[in-house]
Amino acid sequence: MNLNHKGDKEYKEMLYEGKAKRIFKTPVAQEFFLEFKDSLTAFNALKKGSFENKGIVNRDIAALLFEYLEKFAIPSHYLRKENQNGMLVKKVTIIPFEVVVRNVLAGSTAKKLGIEEGTPLSEPLVEFYFKKDELGDPFVSEEQMRIIHQIPVRDIDIMKELALKINKKLTELFAEIKIKLVDFKVEFGKDSDSVILLADEITPDCCRLWDMETNEKLDKDRFRRDLGSVKESYESVLARLTQNRRGK
Ligand code: ADP
Ligand code: MG
Repeated sequence: MNLNHKGDKEYKEMLYEGKAKRIFKTPVAQEFFLEFKDSLTAFNALKKGSFENKGIVNRDIAALLFEYLEKFAIPSHYLRKENQNGMLVKKVTIIPFEVVVRNVLAGSTAKKLGIEEGTPLSEPLVEFYFKKDELGDPFVSEEQMRIIHQIPVRDIDIMKELALKINKKLTELFAEIKIKLVDFKVEFGKDSDSVILLADEITPDCCRLWDMETNEKLDKDRFRRDLGSVKESYESVLARLTQNRRGK
């Protein structure tokens, strides 16, 4: 991790250390410093790894994608890049449900349903998973969210609508760089005015990205499945995105 890199600001009060990021207090009450770590985990942290500069690469990808989505009126917690591997974000109260959008069936869902990985879906599918490591982030129905967890229908509808809009814009962006957006996971949170914002991160850690020409995987499945070239794949996603944006 590139801590104490020349010119980096020092944030001393850490509020939370997760599997891939750390959150720090800042002098501004409504802002957090979100630091991207070099570590990589899979299968609910049973498998652990890391690669050099992962934090920088993921921070750059997340910043670029948040900036891109902002142009299409998708509100996020992102404020600006800070230090080598971090960003300043708006403090939110995370809604503890991961929102997954699938365009193509892959991973555990394909396996669970006995459908071949790579089978395209007739329309994007939105799913919710209860964010609880101890339980392995189980799938929940919208009815379970509403009745058991007391999540207002309005909030569920906003998250779904935003997730589909994010999917549409990201699918378009990745298509420009010849990458297929197979699926992804996002998190939402409420700011101090109770506005629902896209939070956390969008990076190859939480997306499935397949090269359109070769079908090569360019995401965390390279780590999960020991396919090698994890670092190179993440770097190539960033390089392709950066080159593409430069031409605009
Ligand atoms: P985890 O191991 O829980 O996935 P991460 O390593 O992803 O944790 O660390 C980021 C944590 O910070 C996540 O739990 C995420 O929900 C939370 N988070 C992300 N953005 C914000 C924000 N703007 N305000 C508050 N919490 C946030
Ligand atoms: Mg996380």
